[in-house]
Amino acid sequence: MTLQTDITSVDQHSVHSTGAEDLSRTLPYLTADFYRFQDQLSDEERGHIGRVRAFFESEVAPIANEYWAKAEFPMHLVPGLARIGAFGPFVPEVRQFENTAVYRGWAALEMGRIDAGIATFVGVQSGLAMGSIDVGGSPQQRAEWLPKLASAEVLGAFGLTEPLSGSDSARGLRTTARREGDTWVLNGAKRWIGNATFADIVIVYAKDVADGQVKGFIVDTTTPGFTATKIEDKIALRSVQNADITLTDVRVPESMRLQRIRSFREVAVVLRLTRCEVAWQAVGVAIGAYEAALAYAQEREQFGKRIVAHQLIQDLLVRSLSNITASIAICSRASAMQDAGEQGDEHSALAKAFATSRMRETVGYAREIMGGNGIVLDKGVARFFADAEAIYSYEGTREMNTLIVGRAITGEAAFV
Ligand code: FAD
Repeated sequence: MTLQTDITSVDQHSVHSTGAEDLSRTLPYLTADFYRFQDQLSDEERGHIGRVRAFFESEVAPIANEYWAKAEFPMHLVPGLARIGAFGPFVPEVRQFENTAVYRGWAALEMGRIDAGIATFVGVQSGLAMGSIDVGGSPQQRAEWLPKLASAEVLGAFGLTEPLSGSDSARGLRTTARREGDTWVLNGAKRWIGNATFADIVIVYAKDVADGQVKGFIVDTTTPGFTATKIEDKIALRSVQNADITLTDVRVPESMRLQRIRSFREVAVVLRLTRCEVAWQAVGVAIGAYEAALAYAQEREQFGKRIVAHQLIQDLLVRSLSNITASIAICSRASAMQDAGEQGDEHSALAKAFATSRMRETVGYAREIMGGNGIVLDKGVARFFADAEAIYSYEGTREMNTLIVGRAITGEAAFV
């Protein structure tokens, strides 16, 4: 599905100058940002965070449970996401303002705090699809695709995982690419591909039968031989449209092969950058659940007093805040290292493994604080609780990210 969104026609005043500064002055600290890490941001960046927060609180929060329950994606939100600069803020040619990886992390956190489904949609369109073109595209490919993806005129997806290859995609891809003159012929299958049911293009990674190396292709989803079938009945991230893809003699011109992807090494660069943002997103999910549980505990009375006044409830709240605080600290440093050009795969991997593990624990505490109401959607914690399970596993499971860190600290690769 193609959306015609003209980012030049949106409220440029609030995008570029005094609007963001005004928001910066009025942006309240999240109470879960206990050590005020958001002070790391410039005033301009805080202003833009204010725009992200305002959009997610006013436009996303009211409908998040409804779309989660229906397992439908709220397509009407996409132009607004483009307006707040959600797509490709790391791309110099299309970003609305110069920003840091720390800013982009906070933006992912603010999105995850309200709805991990929309945060995931953004992660696919921006980090994975645009990120692949940013890392692997030629100057011509950048010029052709990145502005259209930034404005959401074109919607994208990222096809790496396969039915028989998940964690081992660095070596185990079975989808093949065979060159015939100026055309490539793709055959194979992909699984779990987010946004693929409505995307205009999918970045498909396949093994070149000639040299055995992984290559990347911008595949137009209307090409004969391409099918995408929605994966039904998920218990997490239900508004995200994940698909099983089949590729049967899909013909792709050489001009649509990502010219700078020569092996899995370049794919790993894309994943290093997105993993760090998923870590931030996970902190947002933990905060969303914590805030809802804290508010509930302030109201709920048992044994003649509000449960927030019981020591054991305070213990769960403080454990949650500790998890959130430690995760923000790790994510902040990992992103600052990215800004300084010092981030390795292991730094991003540790942030993802740590933040998602602490998120999983924290959403569990929040659900516990809510008692039975913790499993009811409209009480504010259940959706975070369920969504955390998918975030824990995608973009590298805890085990894979642990093995990446393990290799860095021991010099021993223990994947096999
Ligand atoms: P497997 O690789 O089969 O792993 C199963 C278990 O075995 C895991 O616990 C794993 O950690 C463990 N394991 C595997 N190998 C080892 C080992 N050597 N040592 C110890 N433990 C091991 N992919 C895309 O390409 N594009 C997308 O847009 C996308 N979106 C997704 C959205 C959702 C909601 C989900 C759930 C997944 C998505 N994925 C996507 C796929 C995701 O990245 C994979 O699910 C993930 O990498 C794990 O692969 P797998 O599910 O095949 O599990």
